[in-house]
Amino acid sequence: MEKVILIRFNEIHLKGGNKKYFLNLLYNNIKEAIKDFDCKLENIQNRLIVRGYNDSEEQDIIDALTSVFGVHSISVATEINSDEIEIKDFVSKLKINSSFKCDVNRADKSFPIKSNDFAGDLGEIVLKNNESARVDIHNPEKIISVDIRENGKTFIFTDTIHAYSGLPLGEKADGLLLLSGGIDSPVAGFCMAKRGLKQDVLHFDSFPYTSPQAKEKVITLAKKIKKFIGAKYMYICSMTKLQEEFHIHCSSEYAINLLRRSMIRVANYLCEKYKYKTIVTGESLGQVASQTIESLNSTNSVAKNIVLRPLISFNKEEIIDIAKKIGTYETSILPYEDCCTVFLPRNPVIKPRIKDAEKEESKINLDYILNEIVQNIEVIEL
Ligand code: ATP
Ligand code: MG
Repeated sequence: MEKVILIRFNEIHLKGGNKKYFLNLLYNNIKEAIKDFDCKLENIQNRLIVRGYNDSEEQDIIDALTSVFGVHSISVATEINSDEIEIKDFVSKLKINSSFKCDVNRADKSFPIKSNDFAGDLGEIVLKNNESARVDIHNPEKIISVDIRENGKTFIFTDTIHAYSGLPLGEKADGLLLLSGGIDSPVAGFCMAKRGLKQDVLHFDSFPYTSPQAKEKVITLAKKIKKFIGAKYMYICSMTKLQEEFHIHCSSEYAINLLRRSMIRVANYLCEKYKYKTIVTGESLGQVASQTIESLNSTNSVAKNIVLRPLISFNKEEIIDIAKKIGTYETSILPYEDCCTVFLPRNPVIKPRIKDAEKEESKINLDYILNEIVQNIEVIEL
């Protein structure tokens, strides 16, 4: 008899010929997530199982497992021999004081009693041993699951913890997340990672107009979302020179639009250099002047790769809910300045025109400054 952690996945089952590839990714990602614990990960007949762990670390292991995309749910289970007497004996010792039902899954067809019959037998045992237990087939508070596997072993569990599901992160970072210090961009990274997109992060600052504390805050955010998005590298790029030039030579109402366009150009440079295939941002339609359709069109027009904006249809409250769940909210609301707030124009253009943005850009030596800026990008290993 051994206590183990059962890990279930769902979408991977639909992957047909690619199932093995995705299962392998999931296995490796889980292995990485629990590498600091003394335990073993096994792949037995489409079930992933953690065993041999220290009881005191059980909750920490569960927390680590629930952060892995592709994991659908987790149960702490007891593994016993697929023997009728042994199973009945184990179930007779369960303490149940609510409504319940027994669920038997008989993958091993050589087990002599049919699933429904055995579920009935086990239910009677529970009723006999627990005065306040009562059967409720349709809406039970507890489900006693008995999973009879083909290898002569049976898993019994009563609780299931739901994880995020989705797809396991790929081996290589295909995405570059533009991470500001705000609430939205960490959530955007999380949402794309849920669909298997591993990402590194790019942050822009305007030192000395933005403080070292503002930069530290974003590094903290990057470290917090690392377990979800799989980030290995953080790039920090100073936009100071460019913002000063825009401020002196260009129309102030275009300042943010011009800055956004150049953020994308820097991202283009990193995509080419490090082979990222897509840029991810936390933009949400209509949230501010820089996120109208016209602004997004203007920013998008300089992008060389697809820009993914997973929050485009989200309301702020929906974004805040996720930020709280993934533990980034408290850091995001720390009151430090962002480079977008430096030289903030009083009346930012709401419907920028690409032609006008280009006209403004032609007033400075943009290529020269951008080239200088990208040469000085700082790379941090997270
Ligand atoms: P948040 O800052 O949480 O993203 P926001 O409402 O402040 O939300 P904006 O400042 O308009 O959003 O920025 C839109 C998107 O542009 C951000 O979600 C982020 O992806 C990118 N971005 C903005 N500022 C920066 C920055 N300093 N560094 C990197 N990316 C940035
Ligand atoms: Mg922001």
